[in-house]
Amino acid sequence: MNTIRHHLDDATLLSYSSGSLTNAMALVVACHLSVCADCRRKAGEMELLGGEMLERLQPADLSDSALQNLLDALDEEQPPEPTTDAPALPPADVPAPLWAYIDKPLDELAWKSLAPGFAYVDLPCQGTGASKLLRIAPGKSVLPHTHTGNELTMILRGSYVDDVGRFAKGDIADLDDAIEHQPLVDSPESCICLVATDGPLRFTSLLGRIVQPLTGF
Ligand SMILES: [Zn+2]
Repeated sequence: MNTIRHHLDDATLLSYSSGSLTNAMALVVACHLSVCADCRRKAGEMELLGGEMLERLQPADLSDSALQNLLDALDEEQPPEPTTDAPALPPADVPAPLWAYIDKPLDELAWKSLAPGFAYVDLPCQGTGASKLLRIAPGKSVLPHTHTGNELTMILRGSYVDDVGRFAKGDIADLDDAIEHQPLVDSPESCICLVATDGPLRFTSLLGRIVQPLTGF
């Protein structure tokens, strides 16, 4: 896919390559890498760089425990282990790493209604943070919010616009707590996103604060 316009931050790729992302965030990164050759190449370069840096380090430069922690982190496989035995080939709008977490095509999942036009499916990611699929109807807008941690979103279907730009299939929104945004779905079909957070969202309007306990973010 060469129509991707929004990519992963270098900092996110580096965290992924060193195995320090939560499972929830790593899943979104793995899904984007499965469709983006540019980010895949960068991630490969970072892994090589990390390996060289390790080789140049003398054991005296690191305490035994620090070195072991680093090696342990590198050993942790990314993405996380699949939790279901999924059929071999995912539908076109489901990235292969995500297919390990859902056992049905997107339209057949047990979507839970959040509010008119909003639905979600929780994904069984282990560790801190949360991972969900969000489905937002055409013309609907998510309430303005900032984040207390990082938020990674990959668009699987449809598109939305916000202060940062227009996001369509395959694009990544890699947001930190400095950004306030209000995505508006501008596609004729519902926008379906894979979203991971490593901290709760902080909605900036009263209604948002009411809705927040419902979303679980
Ligand atoms: Zn990319």
